[in-house]
Amino acid sequence: MKRYVIIGCGNAGLTCAKTLRSHDLDAQITIISDEDYPPYCRCLLTYYIENKADEKILFEKNESSIKRMNLNYLRNEKVEFIEPKKNRVRLSSGKKLYYDKLFIGAGASPKKSFFKSDNSILTTNLRKFDDAKKIKDNFSKGSVAVVEGGGLVSLKTLVALYEIGVKVFWVVGSPYILSFLIDRDSSKILEHIITSHGIKLIKGARIVEIKNKIVKLNNEYEIKADGVIVGKGVAANKIPSDTYIEFDDGYLVNDFFETSIENVYAGGDCAKIFDKAHNKIWKVALWPVAGTSGLFAAKNMINLKTKFKGAVPANSFSVFDNDIIAAGKKKIEKNETGNFYEYSEKKNNVFKKFIFDKNNNLKGFVFINDIFNAGSYYYKIK
Ligand SMILES: Cc1cc2nc3c(=O)[nH]c(=O)nc-3n(C[C@H](O)[C@H](O)[C@H](O)COP(=O)(O)OP(=O)(O)OC[C@H]3O[C@@H](n4cnc5c(N)ncnc54)[C@H](O)[C@@H]3O)c2cc1C
Repeated sequence: MKRYVIIGCGNAGLTCAKTLRSHDLDAQITIISDEDYPPYCRCLLTYYIENKADEKILFEKNESSIKRMNLNYLRNEKVEFIEPKKNRVRLSSGKKLYYDKLFIGAGASPKKSFFKSDNSILTTNLRKFDDAKKIKDNFSKGSVAVVEGGGLVSLKTLVALYEIGVKVFWVVGSPYILSFLIDRDSSKILEHIITSHGIKLIKGARIVEIKNKIVKLNNEYEIKADGVIVGKGVAANKIPSDTYIEFDDGYLVNDFFETSIENVYAGGDCAKIFDKAHNKIWKVALWPVAGTSGLFAAKNMINLKTKFKGAVPANSFSVFDNDIIAAGKKKIEKNETGNFYEYSEKKNNVFKKFIFDKNNNLKGFVFINDIFNAGSYYYKIK
């Protein structure tokens, strides 16, 4: 009987486990999670804050598939050390687990912020269910929140807080919001949508101190608040090991999700993968990509040699009933102008932009409020 051990039960780990089981009914499949909950979808956390998703919605489906698929799920257990020389992992409880194949799906952790705080108000990130619970307990109708960071998690968080009646200040260091996800033109449309709802957007700024419930920014702006949620991006989690597993800002894997060490695979937010649209290997920290990497890794772990040909990053989300879908390459950098060109059209709140390479291949698009055919364009890029 094969022994598979999976570290982390996010989308990468759980998809890996389910795929292994669907090909091997007898294998012993153990998933270890340092969280004390059934597996859940991280993307739904803001809906939990907003009271659109309760614990039943978050947990029930995954909990029953763990049982149905006979997966050995160890929760509230941390893998403290990987020992590839002995084919085993050491857990926080002192247990040692032996494996034939190991998958690292340890995800990522929020980057730290460096402002001073007297802890007079809640200061947290939003990555885990425990964070979501803290945020939900801390804020109610009429309270004031400062959200720092211009990414998608911050945006989803502030929309959730707004929806439960919280007054929101959004502090963003970069000159425009979602700068990693969309281009400047689309960003302007979104900024308009957000500020027209009464959310105060403060760009080019950062928090320097929290004292006596006052949040101070570097531009001398001061906000009396009930809590701060910081979203300044994530860093891949790395687990100590007795043999060096190649890691450079993320586990390095080949097209089969194998790390530099035999029988050890990695995927999801803790690994770097090939991004087809940008033609480079980097971290693509997205939910569907984590699942795909778990699926491909599992196939290779059971020796169904399956080569990964690259991901096309895509995001779809809705902000106050405005639909946004962005996929592949979303902007042309200054040093790329001869190699790519773009076509865009804008009418009121509707925006469409396509990016092509010089051979007229579609490389990316951003659609706001007219998402017709987005799926076909996505597959064209793929
Ligand atoms: C609020 C929020 C909203 C999001 N919205 C979107 C969205 O709309 N679209 C999208 O594409 N992406 C979204 N994301 C990102 C998406 O959730 C991640 O890309 C995805 O969850 C990554 O999956 P993963 O399995 O690689 O890692 P994770 O989901 O981070 O899971 C890794 C798990 O491993 C555990 N772990 C780590 N180290 C150890 C250890 N040593 N021992 C045991 N367990 C360990 C972690 O605690 C965690 O439970 C969102 C993220 C957040 C936080």
